[in-house]
Amino acid sequence: MSKYDPKKLRPESMMMSYGYKPELSEGAIKCPIFQTSTFVFKNAEEGKAFFELAYGLREKTATEEMGLIYSRLNNPDLEILENRLTLWDDAEDCAVFESGMSAISTIMLEFLNPGDYVLYSNPLYGGTYHFVKEVLSRFGIHAIAFHAFESEENIAKIIEEHGIQNKVKMIYIETPANPTNALVDIEACKHVADRYTTDEHKVYLAVDNTYMGPLWQHPLKHGADLVVYSATKYIGGHSDVIAGAVLGSKEVIGRVKTLRTFLGNMAGPWTGWLLMRSLETLKVRMTEQAQNAQLVAEYLQSHPKVNKVYYLGFLTEKDDPDKYRIFKNQLSSAGAMISFEIKGGEKEAFKFLNALQLMHLAVSLGSTESLVEHPATMTHSDFSPEDKALYGITDSLVRVSIGVENHADLIADIKQALEQV
Ligand SMILES: *Cc1c(COP(=O)(O)O)cnc(C)c1O
Repeated sequence: MSKYDPKKLRPESMMMSYGYKPELSEGAIKCPIFQTSTFVFKNAEEGKAFFELAYGLREKTATEEMGLIYSRLNNPDLEILENRLTLWDDAEDCAVFESGMSAISTIMLEFLNPGDYVLYSNPLYGGTYHFVKEVLSRFGIHAIAFHAFESEENIAKIIEEHGIQNKVKMIYIETPANPTNALVDIEACKHVADRYTTDEHKVYLAVDNTYMGPLWQHPLKHGADLVVYSATKYIGGHSDVIAGAVLGSKEVIGRVKTLRTFLGNMAGPWTGWLLMRSLETLKVRMTEQAQNAQLVAEYLQSHPKVNKVYYLGFLTEKDDPDKYRIFKNQLSSAGAMISFEIKGGEKEAFKFLNALQLMHLAVSLGSTESLVEHPATMTHSDFSPEDKALYGITDSLVRVSIGVENHADLIADIKQALEQV
């Protein structure tokens, strides 16, 4: 038996208590919702000291703790939630936002300036794609894409060919990519970022880890500077809250939090409380979802009305050596997202979607209930026909996010719906 060491507890053992002191809240076992906009100072000297730290007018002394001032700057529900989130990714610090898009747009505005370039992996989440192409461009920030499956050499070649060796300031990737689970090699992107980092400027590597995190993929360990989440998905996990998070070193998150203070897009106390509640069951939810997904994927694979199943658990060293290597190096599970091609086209796909009884026809993912959608006409409807072809977004493609229902009931639902096609 190993000796009990509180410092060695796994994250799931800490989600009920970490960072919260019951004695500061009348002994309440759970962190209350601190639904308050402002905080009372003990005296004027304390207020002065807190502001000196908040505005960076002097360094913190060794024993000093930053006090509570105003809920746009700090709030207990947010701070405790942020501390708990750092445990999964073993990050120094975390900033929570009112949406995944807030988290993503804030890091881009903080680390990119007019004239800079961001290199991004395609396909990206639709909201991120729009922000990069339509919003950043209005501030003179340029964006160039590379395909999710591109090699390190080819990514570097794009930088060379565009002559932007001194202008690329961020590599932004999403892996596995939506909707077909295409993998991007985080370490390869880190090598490219390092190659173009100079004494004058750093090339930041940011990874959207919504699909696999915070349980099954830890981009910081592979060299990422920033990890972003739509906490609306697995972290929230119940389709009842919109939120986002960014994790990284104290230094980068310090910058992110400063901009967040002035954009005012932090999460509120109620969102913080909901996410803390969600984190208590994160591991059991995601573990069950991944187990269900494997059984559902195997059923789909064997079904005569199904052409092709995109599920990471089906990668093999023999058939997909590159993808398999990234999968083994980067991921500890095949996850709970599956896409598949039904035989036929949009008509057959719609027939299937409309016939489902237990699974819900809705976008979003990572929730307790299984969600099903049609990427070509829904989440990815604004992709050009060329991009749809390139990324395998066909009319017959259906995307499934597997929930915590009993796997036998999910399979029975799929079976009866396929029978009606
Ligand atoms: C949903 C999602 C986002 C956006 O998050 P919101 O919480 O909806 O703002 C970003 N990236 C990925 C991969 C997502 O699935």
